[in-house]
Amino acid sequence: MELSLFDLHCDTAYEMLTKRQPLLRNTLAVSLENARKFKRYIQVMAHWTDYSLSDEEGWNQCLAMLKNLQRDPAIVGGEATVATTVSNTLSPTLLLAVEDARILNGQIDRVDTLFQHGFRILTPLWNGSTCIGGSHNTEEGLTPFGKAALARAVELGMILDISHASERSAEEIFDISSKKNRPVIASHSNAYQICPVSRNLRDGQIESILRSNGVIGINLYRSFLCENGTASAKDILPHVEYFLEKGAQNALCIGGDMDGADLPDDIPDLSALPILAELMLRHNYSEELIQKIFYQNAFDFAKKYLF
Ligand SMILES: [Zn+2]
Repeated sequence: MELSLFDLHCDTAYEMLTKRQPLLRNTLAVSLENARKFKRYIQVMAHWTDYSLSDEEGWNQCLAMLKNLQRDPAIVGGEATVATTVSNTLSPTLLLAVEDARILNGQIDRVDTLFQHGFRILTPLWNGSTCIGGSHNTEEGLTPFGKAALARAVELGMILDISHASERSAEEIFDISSKKNRPVIASHSNAYQICPVSRNLRDGQIESILRSNGVIGINLYRSFLCENGTASAKDILPHVEYFLEKGAQNALCIGGDMDGADLPDDIPDLSALPILAELMLRHNYSEELIQKIFYQNAFDFAKKYLF
């Protein structure tokens, strides 16, 4: 089976900057070399900034991360492309996302700056309470600034992502997006009913994402797969099954969280991801459904909503 991959989340851009690693061949989980296993490859590159930095320092780190990616020899040499939308190209495509929008630091015009730089996916929260609002480990919702900034992002055409949001913040993110008839995604979150951690999705959130025509990326982080944290590839299947029972066959994707997560032993990097497809085949998943989860669902979504 010839597999393609559209991965909704990795933290590789941060690792490339801070560990001085190139995109083509490196010691990270994600590289173009590791992606050669896939016929087509589209990767959302999250720009996550170090939590120990101030909001302002984080903003500068995000811009430095983007510059570092754009100047990578593989990008300059045309072996992969940084894009704002998707096409049927066989050349690897990278899309840009910001994770933890506290780096806006109270300045709404920075949303426009991010959009102009090509960022199309915004994961507003990460941990704790910020100028944007409350993350998954708080009870808080969005701040007035957070609401205004996210409304501006949606107005420009960015997609909001509830991964890492508190329940209240997620509710408000759905409200902001639905006012403009735009979808909401969870780029890297699993099912709370299977693994009850605050980073995973409650049933109501899954239903709201599906209703909005959004997508959900399965996260490979061990602690979000099963409670004892000793996950292997087989522990991904109960989450897949659960999302499918909820009607997510056209919305379920991969959001591997590679280079930001403790991965299952048998999936140490991107090149090992096909073992999940093989496991699904052995569990009588159709090739069509596997291709949808690995690539087509995210591709159809991006084709429709990114520009
Ligand atoms: Zn994350």
